Amino acid sequence: MNQRMHRHDDRLFDLISNHVHEQLHSDDIALDCPDSGEDLGEVLDGLLCASGNDPEHVLKLYQRELSRTIINQASPRFLSFIPGAPTKAAQLFDMVVSSDALLGTFWLESAGVIAAENQVLRLIADLAGLPATAGGCFVSGGSAGNLSALVVARDIARRRLGLPVGSRLRVAVSDQAHSSVGSTLNVIGVEALVVPSVDHRFTGAALRAALEDDRDPSPVIAVVATAGTTNAGIIDDLAGIADAAEAHDLWFHVDAAYGGAGLFAHSVRRKFDGIERADSFIVDSHKWLFGPFGSGALIYRDPQVARSVHSQVAPYLDGVQTHAGQSKWNPSDYAHHLTRTPGGMPLWFSLAVHGTDAYRSAIESGISIAKETADLIRAEYPHLEVIRDPELSCLLFRRHGWSAGDYYRWSKELLADEIGFILPTTWENEVVGRFAFVHPGTTIEMVRQVLDSTTEPAS
Ligand SMILES: *Cc1c(COP(=O)(O)O)cnc(C)c1O
Repeated sequence: MNQRMHRHDDRLFDLISNHVHEQLHSDDIALDCPDSGEDLGEVLDGLLCASGNDPEHVLKLYQRELSRTIINQASPRFLSFIPGAPTKAAQLFDMVVSSDALLGTFWLESAGVIAAENQVLRLIADLAGLPATAGGCFVSGGSAGNLSALVVARDIARRRLGLPVGSRLRVAVSDQAHSSVGSTLNVIGVEALVVPSVDHRFTGAALRAALEDDRDPSPVIAVVATAGTTNAGIIDDLAGIADAAEAHDLWFHVDAAYGGAGLFAHSVRRKFDGIERADSFIVDSHKWLFGPFGSGALIYRDPQVARSVHSQVAPYLDGVQTHAGQSKWNPSDYAHHLTRTPGGMPLWFSLAVHGTDAYRSAIESGISIAKETADLIRAEYPHLEVIRDPELSCLLFRRHGWSAGDYYRWSKELLADEIGFILPTTWENEVVGRFAFVHPGTTIEMVRQVLDSTTEPAS
């Protein structure tokens, strides 16, 4: 029967729901030391065959063979990169997105989805202080957000300056900008005017000086500031950069992929002053807003200009514009995507269920544990040194006497012992230790275990 694949199957349903229940019912999420997966080729060999396999066999293969190679991203002991820490509500609603086959491409087919996502964008835009007309859409993450925003900046500047496609343009970025910004510029064929940061912070004065000293005739059309550098959580001088951007007619984009969640936190909100002047900004929901992976918010001050750049035209899409009513809002008009999973829905559900106060306090807990860790290092670990006071929830530290190799060996052992996943980083050409706190379940006792392990010989 050729509809077999699309028919409900109780056994299949039970298999998956038992797995999900097993995964989500526990609050104690182990880190899981991953197997390096050298044998995965053999494990998977022949699985995708003409006749298919028993679902229990395939699920067991996932549980036994694939899972063992995966570090649990939702563990409070995951302290590398910028961790994700999805709430249970967000994880569960992500399954509703799937069960209901939700899509969020056009108002015509998904008005309720888009209205809910826009409610979250509105909340974030209000926290940032953007005008009531601001809006945008959820994209797959920060990289996609930076790309979509800078495409708008580029095309708007071309129009304004009357320049043909292919003319050389530049964007001012600091030497601390996220790697995805460099990648974006490469994709969109725009070059960087790299402005040296001042103690790792991009300032308005440095931007002005760089623009005034610049002898290159090709126009600088935009500036990217970072609100929460990924390495150290440093927030650029947004107000100063906004002034310089205004004086020089630059599109002002703020990459707040990680740090933007700090807009919720009263203790650090002032550090974001100036973000209300951004032409566009992004904040990932899959980082510090506790959403599932694959989602970030992209917001424009004036969505109309984004629409004039990103709207797609195709004969089979004509109905999308003519059918929907006055309030229509098509996320496909605000980024380079078309078909789109509505990545804002799990965040919407979780925010609606838990309330903004719960978010505020969960975000504050990341900020406070970074501070507590710095205090603890200073008070009790003389062989360690805090490199700078944390502004958000990242903390860099030095272990006196360690070589780069010692840091990496130590990091590997910590993971093997499931004490923590903490990859070293580089700071001013030196390998150092780094904590990135996001999960509100990370305790100071967990941190202490990590710090205690630095007293043992690293090899
Ligand atoms: C993580 C991050 C990005 C990239 O976001 P993805 O969601 O990983 O694509 C961009 N900028 C900053 C500052 C980040 O922290």
